[in-house]
Amino acid sequence: MKTSKLKTRREFLKITATGTIAAGVLPILMEAKNGIPNSSLSVSGPIVISTWNHGLPANEAAWKILSAKGTAIDAVEKGVNVIESDPENTSVGIGGAPDRDGRVTLDACIMNHNGDCGSVACLEHIVNPVSVARMVMEKTPHVMIVGDGALAFAIDQGFKKTDLLTPKSKIAWKEWLKSSQYKPVINIENHDTIGMLAMDHLGNLSGSCTTSGLAYKMHGRVGDSPIIGAGLFVDNEVGAACATGLGETVIRQCGSFLVVELMRQGISPTEACKIAVERIIKHEKNIKDLQVGFLAMNKKGETGAYAIHSGFNYAKYDTNGNKLIDSDFSDR
Ligand code: ASP
Repeated sequence: MKTSKLKTRREFLKITATGTIAAGVLPILMEAKNGIPNSSLSVSGPIVISTWNHGLPANEAAWKILSAKGTAIDAVEKGVNVIESDPENTSVGIGGAPDRDGRVTLDACIMNHNGDCGSVACLEHIVNPVSVARMVMEKTPHVMIVGDGALAFAIDQGFKKTDLLTPKSKIAWKEWLKSSQYKPVINIENHDTIGMLAMDHLGNLSGSCTTSGLAYKMHGRVGDSPIIGAGLFVDNEVGAACATGLGETVIRQCGSFLVVELMRQGISPTEACKIAVERIIKHEKNIKDLQVGFLAMNKKGETGAYAIHSGFNYAKYDTNGNKLIDSDFSDR
């Protein structure tokens, strides 16, 4: 997939003098006002994209909701729930790789089209952290709850306490303990966060992000995935972005926020992801052993991705079906 070129930077995004409205929301307003759809401005939703191969089954669940005129926020929650609940997946939810002390600590966040968001970090014993994040968003005045507080909140909300360390993950951790070398390696099990972005039939955007974080991390380490603006950002007037890869590097650049702000200027999703990746490359001394990938969707339903190295892919489900797409990459 090559970087999409726009004739003018403002071709798809018409921002008013105050910068408050994008072309994508106009058809809905116009239809509501005049009953006449304007095809040249129409939103191409529903559409859902999500990171890595596991994006395919996650998209299936999200698409069921979107194609039945459900909301983007329900789609991004239920979509990633599928991966969180899969014990065979070693980077998200139950079965996720533990920290170096053998504890499975999960990070997740969610953001809707109103700019509301919720997040949990270092959450243990709960299979679906993104659903707890949604409860934080909807039932508390807070954005982020971590550790024991997040667990207590989850239990209070009716989530079941579960042992997340599966026999498979336990064996791998015991094996790791023999050498205890903390060395993140690109494009293998320790870089498979699922981030999902969706646009519903109303043209509303939402996003989610959920992970067990880096395998064998220090206990208490939190990556970019639950941090609004780093692992995920949604601006319903502009677009949405999410990240996967070495979280520390994404946090340093406010990665997903940066991608959305670049799209606000009329830059395509792929180009915006590329610029964000280049910021990381410029800052980090040694990029050989680290991978970061960004995924983005603008208000028109155009999508794109970019990574430091080859190997990053994403799944895209629209009216043409569900397919995997290889991301562009720098590989410098
Ligand atoms: N971004 C995640 C983290 O740093 C890891 C990943 O995407 O695999 O925790």
